[in-house]
Amino acid sequence: MPEKTVPRPGSLRELAQLLMSLDNLLVSCMRCGLCQAVCPVYGCTFREADVTRGKISLLENLAHEVIKDANSVDDRLNRCLLCGSCQANCPSGVNIMEIFIKARSFVAGYRGLGAIKRLIFRHLLPHPRLFNFLTGITGVLQGPFLKVANRRVGTSKAAVLKPFLGERHIPSLPSKSFSSRHGSIDTAAGKSGLKVALFPGCVPDKLFERLSEATLKALNYHGVGVFMPADLVCCGIPALASGDSQAFLNLTSKNIQVLAKAEFDYLVTPCATCAANIKENWPRFMASYTETEKKDVDSLTAKTMDITQFLVSVLKIDTTPGTKNSNAQKVTYHDSCHLKKSLGVSAQPRAIIQSLPGYELVEMPEADRCCGNGGSFNLFHYGLSKDIGQRKRNNIVSVHPEAVICGCPACLMQLMDMLSQNNDDIPVKHVVELYADSLPG
Ligand code: SF4
Ligand code: SF4
Repeated sequence: MPEKTVPRPGSLRELAQLLMSLDNLLVSCMRCGLCQAVCPVYGCTFREADVTRGKISLLENLAHEVIKDANSVDDRLNRCLLCGSCQANCPSGVNIMEIFIKARSFVAGYRGLGAIKRLIFRHLLPHPRLFNFLTGITGVLQGPFLKVANRRVGTSKAAVLKPFLGERHIPSLPSKSFSSRHGSIDTAAGKSGLKVALFPGCVPDKLFERLSEATLKALNYHGVGVFMPADLVCCGIPALASGDSQAFLNLTSKNIQVLAKAEFDYLVTPCATCAANIKENWPRFMASYTETEKKDVDSLTAKTMDITQFLVSVLKIDTTPGTKNSNAQKVTYHDSCHLKKSLGVSAQPRAIIQSLPGYELVEMPEADRCCGNGGSFNLFHYGLSKDIGQRKRNNIVSVHPEAVICGCPACLMQLMDMLSQNNDDIPVKHVVELYADSLPG
């Protein structure tokens, strides 16, 4: 497929347009400061520059600040998880995520992207076979470099990779991704009468492939037809979060084109970040799509949902809280930001857990406070990410659970790292894993 020709926001005209559209968004901030109370970054640093109000002050003078010191502006903007907590708590309804995404795009357009980011966003993520090949090879060769860190949590450490990974405790890569193992899937609707497009997302495809397997098992069990083309690519969020709107649009266009080939009722994913990105960010760029793509984006965003929402709200699985087994495991649930704050999904995962006889749900304090992962935020601001994650870990262990459950693979990775580094023997699972385990077969 040829590269999509969208204007790179680096031309003077594009940059000026971005600035004007930012100005229109910034005026709605009333400077009330209510975003401070919920911002996980501010909660660690207590720096006004780190919270939305401080960033908005910076953006009011963006052109001037960028000319003065583009690197410093970039650093200040990136000290943010894009968790959406501030937007969910803003009494003036400021469209904060739109502001941050436009501002990052402006800065990246002005100063350009680093070579590694360009390579990943433009030459790796758009090519699923290459991406699968590289992660598969890593999965095969990683063994001698990894040392078990915490068996119960399922993490390893790699001394030789310390310059890249720092202190992180990581899960090992499987030798085959979910998409390599299954190739294309196209099955007819069964007893449910429904067919879905399965969008695994990069992390549940290549790292936590068990989440995609659990999703497929649940769909098969309920007689839901599945469409999963082999040429699906990344949903685009890593590129967008780095301000690379051109790479983001190339990725979305590829996905739109392959998904438009089939008829299905819903698009489901076990990745809350992918679901939120498709629903919120794909339509932000309507002006850059072709007329056909615009219609496809409208249709896709309306059909997209998280797997737990699909199971409870569409399939209407039985969520009657049942009698618990005598040896039911005590578990606690972490609300992923993209699942609760972006998609409004918090009751459905809890309903699934409470319906399972083998699990007893106990709420942790601040269940919906961000875990600190934030994708690239974890890569570039690991110290801060860890401080935020430690608060989440302390909240988890305060209720003495036997496992912690969440609905987003990025949170899963962060919670595993935090619990493992604290020597806590608490495994982390996705809701759909619990549900699939309860099914026969
Ligand atoms: S809560 Fe909203 S209106 Fe208040 S300072 Fe933050 S962004 Fe501005
Ligand atoms: S998106 Fe999250 S981390 Fe960023 S300013 Fe808002 S609350 Fe803070």
